[in-house]
Amino acid sequence: MVKEWVYKTPGIPDDAFIQSDEVPGPTKEEIRVITIAKARLQEGDVVIDVGCGTGGLTVEAALQVAPKGKVYAIDEDPIAIKLTNSNVEKFGVKGNVSIVSGKAPLAIIALPNADAILIGGAGVSLRAILQIANSKINSGGRIVINAILLETATLAIAELKGLGFKDIDITHISMAKGKQINSGTMMLARNPITIVSATKP
Ligand code: SAH
Repeated sequence: MVKEWVYKTPGIPDDAFIQSDEVPGPTKEEIRVITIAKARLQEGDVVIDVGCGTGGLTVEAALQVAPKGKVYAIDEDPIAIKLTNSNVEKFGVKGNVSIVSGKAPLAIIALPNADAILIGGAGVSLRAILQIANSKINSGGRIVINAILLETATLAIAELKGLGFKDIDITHISMAKGKQINSGTMMLARNPITIVSATKP
């Protein structure tokens, strides 16, 4: 099989992923790069991706932890599950990904402990998800929450503090991408994202 992404560095172009109007994602390429960096992954790590959507972060994480590591990709939406599966196949990481159809926090309980948990979708269950996540992350492991809503970010910060996580980092990313128009290059803004990350003591 021809490898779709032969590079060590993350940042697969968005349009390389199979996409659907019915499923959010992939998380934009530059946001994926920073998310993966904040997760501080190593070959052999176990990762849980909560709200895998299109599978953008699942594939990037799988490429980092392969060949021995594993990503458990969870989504409550059956269409997201199918789409993640298609992208996992496309990028040749099937052996490193286990796709879990279900709703977090419940769907996390049966999973093994992880070195990193990525949260890209949580909805109203964020507090409960963070509490279960806390019990699943190995000591020294990482949690990374990608927040579109300010409320998600502030809740995550308060909850991580309460759970005793250390090195809580809050990074707000406002990105713009160049688009060619007749008179030159126009910068078009993307929605800002807040990435909250921390280490389990
Ligand atoms: N990071 C993904 C995009 C995530 S979109 C990518 O790169 O493709 C957010 C996803 O979270 C959606 O598919 C939604 O169905 C899922 N989601 C939201 N709340 C959830 C929950 N409580 N349990 C499981 N999945 C959830």
